[in-house]
Amino acid sequence: AVHTETHGFQTEVKQLLNLMAHSLYSNKEVFLRELVSNAADAADKLRFKALSNSELYENEGDLRVRLILDAENKTLTISDNGIGMTRDEVVEHLGTIAKSGTKSFFGELTGDQAKDSQLIGQFGVGFYSAFIVADKVTVLSRAAGQPADQGVQWESDGDGSFTVAEINKPGRGTDIILHLRDSEQEFLDDWRLRSIIGKYSDHISVAVEMWKQGEPEQTDEDGNVTAEATEGEWEQVNKATALWTRAKGDISDEEYQEFYKHISHDYQDALTWSHNKVEGNQEYTSLLYVPAKAPFDMYNREQSHGLKLYVQRVFVMDDAEQFMPTYLRFVKGVLDSNDLPLNVSREILQDNKITSQLRKACSKRVLSMLDKMAKNDDEQYLGFWNEFGNVLKEGPAEDYGNREQIAGLLRFASTHNDSDAQTVSLENYLERMKEGQDKIYYITADSYAAANHSPHLEIFRKKGIEVLLMWERVDEWLMSHLNEFKDKQFVSVTKGELDLGELDDEETKKAQEEANEALAPLLERVKTALSDDVKEVRLTHRLTNTPSCVVADEHDMSTQMIKLMRSAGQ
Ligand code: ADP
Ligand code: MG
Repeated sequence: AVHTETHGFQTEVKQLLNLMAHSLYSNKEVFLRELVSNAADAADKLRFKALSNSELYENEGDLRVRLILDAENKTLTISDNGIGMTRDEVVEHLGTIAKSGTKSFFGELTGDQAKDSQLIGQFGVGFYSAFIVADKVTVLSRAAGQPADQGVQWESDGDGSFTVAEINKPGRGTDIILHLRDSEQEFLDDWRLRSIIGKYSDHISVAVEMWKQGEPEQTDEDGNVTAEATEGEWEQVNKATALWTRAKGDISDEEYQEFYKHISHDYQDALTWSHNKVEGNQEYTSLLYVPAKAPFDMYNREQSHGLKLYVQRVFVMDDAEQFMPTYLRFVKGVLDSNDLPLNVSREILQDNKITSQLRKACSKRVLSMLDKMAKNDDEQYLGFWNEFGNVLKEGPAEDYGNREQIAGLLRFASTHNDSDAQTVSLENYLERMKEGQDKIYYITADSYAAANHSPHLEIFRKKGIEVLLMWERVDEWLMSHLNEFKDKQFVSVTKGELDLGELDDEETKKAQEEANEALAPLLERVKTALSDDVKEVRLTHRLTNTPSCVVADEHDMSTQMIKLMRSAGQ
């Protein structure tokens, strides 16, 4: 190799490498899943690029990944003939972490090994997982379409730096050579590797091959040949059929979970999924997953999200966000369309009738998957809600057509429970409504305590009317887009003249009228004194323990919204 250069890893990579050796030890075989997964991605990318430039195949169109064992040198090589990398790509992809949310991830590390290993599992370590089992990693790569002398060699022993050098590499693609640690020699065992591949890589759409030794000639006692010698050959060891193309009944939960990990880069199991094959007007297959845990950058709206898009089984792009509305951005999955053109680009997707139909259909699928979870498994649903509820609350504003269904999925804290746990559905609320009550009452505040202790609630508590308590930033936004549920209007208890309608009995009404008359002069005086600050001073019957409170006019912004806008600098 000529022109060897030494580069330092990005700080985050160093931290990651440091952590990994200790933290992922209990589940070290994941390195193989990560590296085979990268090789499969590289095959997908080449297939797609070759659609418009078949010369990239260089007369070698059978894409495969090979595992090569070398007992003498104690190396395991994962070799692919996929898209490959240029020198610059190698330096960028194998020296930094491009993943969004990286910063917040490293901010959350505590130094506590048990906790950090949980976190690192969620974050995913990708290529760097090679260092779990190897004390030196050599990468040889050559990008498709480049001449053989444009190969690159990357090498590191996983401390602070790596080297890159130019090499000659006739074969297209990437070899990852793992120099196994003395303690990890088990990964030189043929059967061990085959069983790991079976576990992790059956659903990967590219063939994974291992060398099968030939048998020597066999003879009987007399020297007669009973079996001819056979030659060694590459043998495919995974099923290599794209999982979503198989029939639902033939796929085990484990296989669904493994596939989820492949496409999501998550280390944990998904919470649930929905697999659908649709024929007729539109032909497509979707496989959509709800993760168990929110990623670190859930609230970064620029965060990459969306589905892995295939057209007629050919991978087209990652993170095709056009098929999922923003409020469902936590969903991971695959969409394989038979109707989109193979040369589809993000620009074409942007303004496309098929896209918007698919987006509608996918949204519906997710909402009914959530509906089903909510009906069948309360505990699981609340787990989902705690992770993703605040994202789902963006739904009524973004997806007006589905707002009733989304509303049914919301969960709130309420005066019915003595807790800030968000467990009350609107259905629960309707079931508990008082005779004569025709409104859904709620309050928004800065915190649970502020909501729960608001003087506005006194009259409701006295009358035993339930009030939904809200204090999340997004709640005000949510309630400005949610006017009713099942024909019952939402009413903020802090706004305007509170008309409890049928709920006020005749006697109270009469007493109130008398009080109104008697106290009219007092109100005038207060109003004059506060004239610059308030619009109106009113006698109220909604407070039972507190003498007075400030309310917003019915058509004005609520006090909470005013605070929100002030904090946003308006
Ligand atoms: P991720 O797969 O989540 O992007 P990885 O750490 O696994 O993260 O890989 C980082 C990047 O390195 C990949 O996105 C890809 O660009 C590049 N890469 C890794 N392995 C290969 C490979 N076998 N062939 C081509 N590119 C690869
Ligand atoms: Mg990867």
